[in-house]
Amino acid sequence: MTFAEQLINWRRELHQNPELSGQEVATTTRIRHWLESAGLRLLPYPLATGVVAEVGQGEKVIALRADIDALPIQETSGVAFSSHNDGVMHACGHDVHSSVILGAALLLKEREAHLSGRVRLLFQPAEENFTGAKALIKAGALENVSAIFGMHNEPGLPVGTFATRGGAFYANVDRFVLRVRGKGAHAARPHEGKDAIVIASQLVLALQTIASRNVDTLDSVIVSVTRIQGGNTWNVLPESVELEGTVRTHRNEIQQQVEKRISEIAAGLASAFGAHIEVEWFNGPITLINDDKWAAFAMQLAQRVGYRTQTSELHMGGEDFAVYLQTIPGAFVSIGSASEYGLHHSAFNPDEALIEDAARYFATLAEQALLEK
Ligand SMILES: [Zn+2]
Ligand SMILES: [Zn+2]
Repeated sequence: MTFAEQLINWRRELHQNPELSGQEVATTTRIRHWLESAGLRLLPYPLATGVVAEVGQGEKVIALRADIDALPIQETSGVAFSSHNDGVMHACGHDVHSSVILGAALLLKEREAHLSGRVRLLFQPAEENFTGAKALIKAGALENVSAIFGMHNEPGLPVGTFATRGGAFYANVDRFVLRVRGKGAHAARPHEGKDAIVIASQLVLALQTIASRNVDTLDSVIVSVTRIQGGNTWNVLPESVELEGTVRTHRNEIQQQVEKRISEIAAGLASAFGAHIEVEWFNGPITLINDDKWAAFAMQLAQRVGYRTQTSELHMGGEDFAVYLQTIPGAFVSIGSASEYGLHHSAFNPDEALIEDAARYFATLAEQALLEK
């Protein structure tokens, strides 16, 4: 069996046996077994799921990270190695990321005697619910690490294409819930109530002015109301309406500005209509900020080993890798996976041809990064 076939077999085995965030028990057992069989040292962290291994000797440590969790999606890709777990699917390609970093681990093991330090391999659980990175850091996975690297496959790019950027990359992802409390009334006697539906409608439109009229047009921002609920029949004006939505930004100043404007608009409308509007704000994943130097380093190496490289656009989604980069420098990169259907789609089907090259790339990246100051 060739190296590429080995990695593809592992990827398919992971793909057939996907597990949800925080429940990656069998996945963890498989990865542990594969790493141990290849002679890698497993670090004895008390993790419920996830694996951390190491290769090499010395003071300096470079980390490579893969994520291992799947999504609550019923697979419709039609591939022969489709999910055996009903309603669970590797629809984000974390099975591909895992096989890439497993491949890098094997290559680094072969070159162990020549490494100028240690490479730590993080197989992180629970990326999709943004809790895994924190758990690994708490366990000690970043101790003595001078830089960390990770990847996401990019269905919109052809295989052989590589993209990244210095600075902000993935977004701050926040959620808000707004509760409009007016006064219920007979639909035929609206003057006796404070119509929560009319107020909520004005609120949705007013929130759109944050992006169009408050934030600098050169800054990225999304304010979306994604759920609106109120009333239960045709002849009663409801007492209350609940709205929910999300805000995406790439700078903390803008994030704070948007949060402040939502509260001001809610308070202003409540006062104008004699109602009450409660605002609840939930901070989600933080902006992923690549280190300029390491992003350039990763890009140059990609070019040197034959990838077509390009600068990434800003990404409006969230990525748990951001949490590592809050603690230590490093770079997150995109590698083309040429899937007709996108990430989180039930028919997502990344091209496995990316796996071998990406494994070789990450092994060399870690090896070269160990030589940097
Ligand atoms: Zn995902
Ligand atoms: Zn993902």
